[in-house]
Amino acid sequence: MINIEAYQKILAKVNSYNATLVAVSKTKPNEDLEALYHQGQRVFGENKVQEMCNKHESLSGNYQWHMIGHLQRNKVKYMANFVSLVHGVDSLQLLKELNKQGAKNERVISCLLQVHIAKETTKFGFNYAEVEELISNNALIELCNVEIIGLMGMATNTDDSGQVRSEFKKLNSFFENCRSTMANSVFNVLSMGMSGDYEMALDEGSNMVRIGSLIFGDRNYDN
Ligand SMILES: *Cc1c(COP(=O)(O)O)cnc(C)c1O
Repeated sequence: MINIEAYQKILAKVNSYNATLVAVSKTKPNEDLEALYHQGQRVFGENKVQEMCNKHESLSGNYQWHMIGHLQRNKVKYMANFVSLVHGVDSLQLLKELNKQGAKNERVISCLLQVHIAKETTKFGFNYAEVEELISNNALIELCNVEIIGLMGMATNTDDSGQVRSEFKKLNSFFENCRSTMANSVFNVLSMGMSGDYEMALDEGSNMVRIGSLIFGDRNYDN
């Protein structure tokens, strides 16, 4: 069951910042996605390739699929023909595989570099220095079938809102620096903010939030 009232409230907030709402539908049944689609939502986020492929194949309409989870190189081929944005690029090897599969499908795959901004060591991503190195790497020029359009980050999972805010602030200023050093104009997405911290993320410069449980309810991983 989706919470339409919550969805509309979130959407109004997100729209007031000219940001994009990614509805995170992982673990949720097709009926829930269809109900939200019926409300006008088009962008959906999934974190497992298999699940995203199944939903893509079984749902008809104009769904835009975002891969928001950790992505293994050997899974890229299954989604390369339809994924609209990959949020979690965390290595040059993965970017090269995305490029290869993009070429096979004669398309350019849009990507975000995931930056590790949280205190937890379990979250994937580049550190700031690695991102700087990557975006100035000449190897990128040859990757014609991928396009880096911005950054993604996940804040520390903590009640300390000062901590979360400072992580968002830092990522936003880093993002602005990258944007000014990147020669191309497509680099303009900053994906940060989830159910628990999206309002703060928007305040701190996010233009893409990924929200699941506030819209779809809690996830049950048992079934
Ligand atoms: C699950 C997930 C979300 C959404 O989390 P909620 O707290 O349910 O909004 C956002 N981003 C990523 C990367 C996720 O895996």
